[in-house]
Amino acid sequence: MAVEILQTTPLPPVIEEILQRDYTVHRLWQASDRNALIREASGRVRGLVTSGSVGADRALIEALPRLEIISSFGVGYDPIDIACAKERKVIVTNTPDVLTDDVADIAMVLLLSVMRRIPQGDQFVRQGQWPKAKFPLTEKLGGKVMGIVGLGRIGQAIARRAEPFGVEICYFGPRRKNDLPYRYYDNLTAMAKDVDILMIACPGGRETEGIVNAEVIAALGDKGYVVNIARGSVVEEPALVKALVEGKIAGAGLDVFADEPHVPEALLSLENVVLTPHVGSGTHQTRRAMGELVLQNLAAHFGGRPVLTRVV
Ligand code: NAP
Repeated sequence: MAVEILQTTPLPPVIEEILQRDYTVHRLWQASDRNALIREASGRVRGLVTSGSVGADRALIEALPRLEIISSFGVGYDPIDIACAKERKVIVTNTPDVLTDDVADIAMVLLLSVMRRIPQGDQFVRQGQWPKAKFPLTEKLGGKVMGIVGLGRIGQAIARRAEPFGVEICYFGPRRKNDLPYRYYDNLTAMAKDVDILMIACPGGRETEGIVNAEVIAALGDKGYVVNIARGSVVEEPALVKALVEGKIAGAGLDVFADEPHVPEALLSLENVVLTPHVGSGTHQTRRAMGELVLQNLAAHFGGRPVLTRVV
């Protein structure tokens, strides 16, 4: 008898095929009555497949008494109730490392796009303005100081990309990293005062909620840029929007938002922001690698082997 899995969100088609081949899968997002599906399957479901956006709350975990593993698609696990998983002795896995390069690439793309006004340059050419006018000068990246909030896997990959552009790196986080050559700050406002670019790359969740607040944004100042590829929850979004509208900071590149897929209306008409729809890991290659890791973690667990990328 195939192991029964509850799946909260779709995965890339090639991953779906294998999941359906190897398990009996209940697709929660397609159910006309979610609660009825959960009630019907709850006594048999041993695995939950979810994502770093959808997660798994206490109500869902507690509704599945035979649950052994939550295999999540994504590295961030802030919407998974980790405390509840621990209490219930449910293993939680995520998909670190395989997405690091793509997310760091998007961080640099957002930064360069907003500083060099790439969307405006594209529109300038397409709309036939080039023969009639000169495109305004923009801002040089080389020589700037970048303060990274959360120098983990993605933060370090961003630092490795930014350094060859001539960017000086420093960072804020809970722990100083003595093996890395960058200046450490234990105070975020103090770092914001000293940098030109605030690059947000820490996890979401309660511990980091709103840490990039009005005070930090004010400290960054009117020449400063914010790039957020972490989670919308890390930034006090109304304060950021206000600063951008009032020109209190120079610009922002944002891949993540507080209430996705909804974006504050005020951002949509601003020239000094570049917006992407949470696509940090959104390449064919990386999404497939993430999906493969989801499958490998399930296969390891149900094959009696240790999982590959355990969170708890
Ligand atoms: P990671 O290796 O765990 O790195 C997270 C870093 O944040 C660590 O260096 C950690 O510090 C630091 N940190 C923890 N708490 C903090 C706090 N309160 N203030 C400041 N820094 C703090 O994770 P990762 O693989 O780099 O991923 C980071 C995050 O990126 C994920 O959690 C996810 O939310 C986001 N992400 C976004 C996308 C996207 O599509 N935009 C894709 C993937 C990931 P220590 O090293 O001292 O513990």
